[in-house]
Amino acid sequence: MDPIWLLLLLPLSAASGWLAASWPKSRRLPKGKKPLPTAYYQGLNLLLNEQHDKAIEVLVKALEEDTETVEVQLALGNLFRRRGEVARATRIHQNLIARDNLDDSQRTQALFELGQDYFKAGLLDRAEDLFRELTEISEHSEQALRHLLQIYDQEKEWESAIIIAGRLGDIGIDSVAPVIAQYHCEIAETAIREGRYDRALEHATRARAVDSGCVRAVIQSGRLAALHGNHVEAVEIWKQVESQSADYLGEVLDLIATSYRAMGNVDGYRQFLQSAAEHHGDVRLVFALVDVLDETEGSTRAEQFLVGWLRKHPTIFGLYRLIELKIKQKPRNNDDLELLEGMIGSLLTKESGYVCRQCGFSAKSHHWQCPGCKSWNSISSVQHKTKTLPYSVAVLKTLKSL
Ligand SMILES: [Zn+2]
Repeated sequence: MDPIWLLLLLPLSAASGWLAASWPKSRRLPKGKKPLPTAYYQGLNLLLNEQHDKAIEVLVKALEEDTETVEVQLALGNLFRRRGEVARATRIHQNLIARDNLDDSQRTQALFELGQDYFKAGLLDRAEDLFRELTEISEHSEQALRHLLQIYDQEKEWESAIIIAGRLGDIGIDSVAPVIAQYHCEIAETAIREGRYDRALEHATRARAVDSGCVRAVIQSGRLAALHGNHVEAVEIWKQVESQSADYLGEVLDLIATSYRAMGNVDGYRQFLQSAAEHHGDVRLVFALVDVLDETEGSTRAEQFLVGWLRKHPTIFGLYRLIELKIKQKPRNNDDLELLEGMIGSLLTKESGYVCRQCGFSAKSHHWQCPGCKSWNSISSVQHKTKTLPYSVAVLKTLKSL
């Protein structure tokens, strides 16, 4: 049975039980006991006649007029909101608040429920006012702060979000530190776009102070150094990503390459890649090294390196890169290879990209906040964790003969 009916019929079943118990002893209602409202009979009749919407209307109205059913109405409003019937939930909670016989706890609970109705209806200004009021009431403080944070996060009001997340931190919620760092990074990102580098550096530094593991702030600090022409410093900063969270090295590779090239130090870039590729199994590092070898020492040397790596780490991405190299070495009469390249390429599009560890949202590019579930720091690359290819050694032999 739909929980709505359980709630609506609760007063009816309680009253029926009382009637059954009391009726044989006396045909008159005892003092202080109320008769069952006729609306319940009407509602029950409508329900039995399959007129569910009308039955709900009648029973809700009866409940609204009954001053002794505050808890049931709170639960009913909550259920309506969960079912997406926000207007109905809002009406129940507004009517409750309008009563003058609620105690303080019931009133603040009704305000809290109404705040959630407004939030769900997208009336964020009204929700914000209510939740702000409720942050001062200890019973609802933490939940009100969490809802406020959701509002500021959704509205991209990062300064306000930092203050509210800080208050959550003050009451012992440790998990907000990485999120506060991301808010600082958002401010820094806007400042970089606007050319306000001092402000950007201030917020990137504050992000790292709040969360020493904030990779995004490290990347931004390096970008700011590079923007000032300090490429040596920029590369040194970006290298910290390797020890901090090597999974993100792939995100910073292009920046590192650009700064090494700006310094005219392609050899330094190659050495960095050789070391990083050796220590981490990220195919993006390996392929960047293949590109540099191809550029500096020729495609034969690049192929030699890639084949050696593929023997130890047989992955479909590696195989695809090898086919690309083969085609580049022999640009004509490559129908078979090009067919293979096309087939593997279409297979790879399903395996590459990024995925959210929280909700499974998949994306073509990296996001610091998941567009699906709005979690921060939950998206990572799937490419470097791709499955190994058990038959690739045999395929390699075939390729060598092509
Ligand atoms: Zn997600």
